[in-house]
Amino acid sequence: MKKAVFPGSFDPITLGHVDIISRSLPLFDEIVIAIGINAKKKYMFSIDERKRFIQNAFFAEQKITVETYTGLTVDYCKTINADFILRGLRNPADFEFEKAIAQTNRKLSGIETVFLLTSAETSFISSSIVRDVIKNGGDASILLPKSVSDFLIKK
Ligand code: ADP
Repeated sequence: MKKAVFPGSFDPITLGHVDIISRSLPLFDEIVIAIGINAKKKYMFSIDERKRFIQNAFFAEQKITVETYTGLTVDYCKTINADFILRGLRNPADFEFEKAIAQTNRKLSGIETVFLLTSAETSFISSSIVRDVIKNGGDASILLPKSVSDFLIKK
């Protein structure tokens, strides 16, 4: 069984993440979307909100589960018997950053990181820019799945 972990902050999940997750579905039997919790980081959305946004975006998809974790991603992968880490690449900066982490993770644990190249339509989307738009009262809905934009409208 091919089980992958897609780790991230997902603060919030964007259409960029949705694109990577949707395109990875044919590659794996199970995908655990894992929200990494770093006590020192400040987030815009609570863990429960971020989890709910992802669950609602993929509620019909049997292969997907949403979890939270702390500590090293490779340790979490071992705990749940996942052999693959899934990541998205948008640009050279992502590549340089991800390369060192993926090589370290493989050295530490043997776990392979599978990279999917961002789609042209979503390559510019990042959670940090989405947060900036929201903070400044802009409408970020075209960058977000309905589960997030509906929440923002109601707020
Ligand atoms: P992290 O804080 O670990 O980077 P993110 O939630 O920002 O967490 O991102 C999780 C993963 O999703 C990363 O691999 C990131 O490169 C990928 N990602 C984010 N936005 C996009 C996008 N627009 N296209 C492709 N991949 C993306």
